[in-house]
Amino acid sequence: MKKILFVASECVPFVKTGGLADVVGSLPKNLDKAQCDTRVILPQYECMKEKYKSQLKSLCYFQMDNRIYVGINTLVLDGITYYFVDNNQYFSGPKPYFDLFSDLERFAYFAKAVLSALPLIGFRPDIIHAHDWQAALVPVYLNTIFQGDPFFRGIRTIMTIHNIRFQGCWNVGHLKWISGLPAECFQPGKLVSPYQDTSLPFDEWNATMLRGGIVYSDWVTTVSESYAKEIQTPSFSDGLDDILKWRKDRLLGIVNGLDYEIWNPKTDKAIAKNYDKRNFWSGKKENKKALQKKFGLPEDPDKFTLGLVSRLTDQKGLDLVDGIMDSLMREDVNLVVLGSGDERYENMFRYYAAKYPGKVAVLIGYDEELSHLIYAGADAFLVPSAFEPCGLTQLIALKYGTLPIVHEIGGLKDTVKPYNQYEHTGTGFSFAGYSSHELLDRINHASWLYREQKEEWKAMEKRAMAEDWSWTESSRRYMDLYNSL
Ligand code: ADP
Repeated sequence: MKKILFVASECVPFVKTGGLADVVGSLPKNLDKAQCDTRVILPQYECMKEKYKSQLKSLCYFQMDNRIYVGINTLVLDGITYYFVDNNQYFSGPKPYFDLFSDLERFAYFAKAVLSALPLIGFRPDIIHAHDWQAALVPVYLNTIFQGDPFFRGIRTIMTIHNIRFQGCWNVGHLKWISGLPAECFQPGKLVSPYQDTSLPFDEWNATMLRGGIVYSDWVTTVSESYAKEIQTPSFSDGLDDILKWRKDRLLGIVNGLDYEIWNPKTDKAIAKNYDKRNFWSGKKENKKALQKKFGLPEDPDKFTLGLVSRLTDQKGLDLVDGIMDSLMREDVNLVVLGSGDERYENMFRYYAAKYPGKVAVLIGYDEELSHLIYAGADAFLVPSAFEPCGLTQLIALKYGTLPIVHEIGGLKDTVKPYNQYEHTGTGFSFAGYSSHELLDRINHASWLYREQKEEWKAMEKRAMAEDWSWTESSRRYMDLYNSL
């Protein structure tokens, strides 16, 4: 029986800002319990839901390095044991992340606290599985300052990259100061990239926590096979391609699965009418009506409706959407948007909602429940991301019979099969070149098919719903990796 500890900064249902939380929340539940005991350790944020905070039991507390408080609290939910690192000074406030400068210190503390707590919590993992830059110092600490302690000998580590854009990067002097890591970690090729402005003093060179996680862990994984290849190239690696190429024999892409207990139109309590493969046509129309009502759009179950649920950032291809809006609005389509993020895009969507009332409806904010209704009520779903490590929204859309229109990149390429009118195959629409014109072309093709070739459209919706993007296959691949260590 393998003992595995997930280390992450967010996890459904406790705290979520994006897909990372979905994965950390659902993968442990889907691993074979006969083969492994998987537990999860997280920061204990003050902003965590009260319902869970009130269930926490104190396990231990101590002074790390004789000066910094670490409390470990725990709860068991759906058969999984969760540990929480408690320190008011670091994890108070209304949200999990603040500015990068203070986040770096908070998560350096978190990584060290996790390892310092292990001898006290009665669970010695065989494998520590660290997720994203916030947990990336765990393999670094383990293989440096904790190395001499026999308790830690033989613990293996996996570093999973959910999004390489976020790396935890600052200068050498600052990272050295906040982490207390030895000088050897800051040699070029370790936390420090070999490509630097050498005219600067060494302390001002860039150092990157995620780079450290990649160098010091036994295996590196990322969340789709295409993304695993893409991040070995300069265009997609955000400066880490040298190290990823060097580690390519220990780099694996495993596509994320979806938690069908949460995302299933047959059982979903947040939608207007449940449906499955047999009654999706009428079911989706009911949901479309409810969606139109909710967003103040004229009720018309036959109107081709596009959905978009997203963080509103550069990554998500919203500049392409901006480029097509006026042309798109000349067609007989509606667009429903739910998202929050960069002010630039929030204002852009507010502008289009005001310019095209009755056709474009926008809610700026984060609303889990409402997102379900959009997945169920829209006919097609936009994911034109510039890059997308895996992407969950297209997987959710597929399950709800809402055909994704995606940029052929990363996980989108691996999970959406483009429509082929001759072979009658495909589960969505995709475009290869990152351009507004290609996006518009795919949307127009989709809306034409929806209106003029109803049976083709229905057959494609059925194929999309029949696909299995649950964790079954991916959790088996993780299990193989764990067993190989
Ligand atoms: P990322 O992790 O890059 O944000 P993913 O596609 O992997 O993108 O995951 C996004 C998750 O967050 C999905 O579950 C999506 O439904 C959810 N989501 C994104 N924005 C919102 C929002 N404004 N309201 C509700 N859910 C959202």
